[in-house]
Amino acid sequence: MIAKTKKISNYKQLKKELPTTRYVDPEYVYINMDTQRCKTCGLWVQEGDYVKLGQIIGEREGGFFKQPVYSTVSGHVEKTVRKLDSSGKEVEFIKIRNDFKDTYDESITDRPESVIAKMTKEEIVEIVKEKALIGLGGAAFPTYIKLDTKEDIHTVVINAVECEPYLSSDYRLIMDHPEQVFKGLQYLMQASGAKQGVVAVKKTKKELVEILEREVERFKDLNIKIAKLADFYPQGWEIETFKGATGIKVPIGELPMKYGILGFNVSTCQSVFEAVKHNLPVVKRYVTVNGDAVNFPQSIRTRVGAQVKDLIRLSDGYKEGIDKVEVIIGGPMMGTSVETDDVVVTPTTTSVLIFENIDYDEEPCVRCGSCIYSCPVDIQPVSIMNAVKRNDKKAIEALEAKKCIECGLCAYVCTSKIHVTDYVRKGKKLIG
Ligand code: SF4
Ligand code: SF4
Repeated sequence: MIAKTKKISNYKQLKKELPTTRYVDPEYVYINMDTQRCKTCGLWVQEGDYVKLGQIIGEREGGFFKQPVYSTVSGHVEKTVRKLDSSGKEVEFIKIRNDFKDTYDESITDRPESVIAKMTKEEIVEIVKEKALIGLGGAAFPTYIKLDTKEDIHTVVINAVECEPYLSSDYRLIMDHPEQVFKGLQYLMQASGAKQGVVAVKKTKKELVEILEREVERFKDLNIKIAKLADFYPQGWEIETFKGATGIKVPIGELPMKYGILGFNVSTCQSVFEAVKHNLPVVKRYVTVNGDAVNFPQSIRTRVGAQVKDLIRLSDGYKEGIDKVEVIIGGPMMGTSVETDDVVVTPTTTSVLIFENIDYDEEPCVRCGSCIYSCPVDIQPVSIMNAVKRNDKKAIEALEAKKCIECGLCAYVCTSKIHVTDYVRKGKKLIG
C-alpha cells in the first residue's frame, strides 16, 4: 500500500541533516529461507549448531538458479520461526543467537589488488554467484545473471539517484565509503568489459557530487564520470536514469544490456566490492529510519537479519502521544505498509518509514484523469482499476497493466485518495 501522507515535502529536508550512522548489532538475527525469487530452501544446519560469520547454512532454490544462504553473525542456531520480511509477507527464518565475537568462516579472505587485476569475467561472475549477491535496491535479481550477459557492454551505470522522498541509505553509504563504491564499479567494469563507468546522482545533492568528483580524481585511470541529473520522481527509474546518464533511451520492456548498458544500485555495487575484495556475502547494510513518528530519524548501518524494532529502538523510539503508527518498509511511493515493527531487515531493506497513522477514507473516482497524466509509462491506471473490479482479465491485458513499474504516482496524485497502485498491482498478478 502506498503511504498517503501529505507531509513529504517537509521531510525532504531531513535527509541532509541526518547524523553520522549508528550501528545495530542485535542479540538475534533472522535469515530468510524464502525470498520473493526463491520459494524453497534446504537447511544445512540444525538447532544447537555453532555457525561462523559468512558460513553457508542452507541453499535457496529459484526457478532457474540456486543461491547459498549465509549466516550474518557467529553464534548458535535456534529454532526456525515465521516472521514478516520486507515485502510484508510472512516467511520462514533461521534464528541465530549472536555471540558478538564475529568469528569469520575460513572462506572469508582478502584478495590482493594484483590478483584481482588479473581476474577474468568468469572468475568475477563466479564470486558474485557464490556470494549470492542480488539487487539490493529492492529488486533482488541475482547479480551474477546480469553480469554474465553475452551482450557487448560499453557503460556500467551506478544508480545513486535515490529519488523517493525520505530515503538516504545510498547517500550515507557514499558519504562514508566512496572508495568502496568506486572499487565495486571498477570490478564491474573489469568483468563486463565496459570502457566507461557513470555514477548517476541528483544535481541537488551538492555534497555528494563533491565527494564523487574527488573520487573520480583518485580513480583517474578509469573512465568514470558523474552524471548530475534533474530532481524529479521517478528519476531513479532505470529507464530515466540511463537516459540522463548516457543519453540512450532504452524502450520500455527491453533489456538495457541490449543497448550496451549495465545498471546497478549503489549498495549492490558496494556488495560487489565486499565479495571480490574480501570474499564476503552481504552481512551488513545501510537502512534509513525516517518519518514524523520516530524521535531520531537517521541512516543506520545494521546487521542483515536484525529486526525493524531494533532500528526504531536505536532511533530513540516512537514519539510520545502518538496512538497509532504506519510502518512502511521501503520508500513512501513504492514501499509496503505493515501494521507492526516486528519485521526482519533483509538484504533488500533500504528504509523504514514511520508515520503517525492518519486514516484516509477512499472517495469515489471523480474521473479527473490525474492518474493518467502522471503515469510515466503511459498506461491508464483508472481503467485498469475498473477492469480489476470487474475481474476482466482481457481488459487488464489490453490496457497493458504489465508495463506498470509500481512507482506509486497514480495513488499519490489521486484526488479521491484511492489506492490506485494497489489495484494495478493486483491486475498484474491476475494476468500473471
Ligand atoms: S504505479 Fe504503475 S500505473 Fe500507477 S503511475 Fe506508476 S507506472 Fe503508472
Ligand atoms: S486520479 Fe483518482 S479520481 Fe482521478 S481519475 Fe484517477 S482514480 Fe479517478
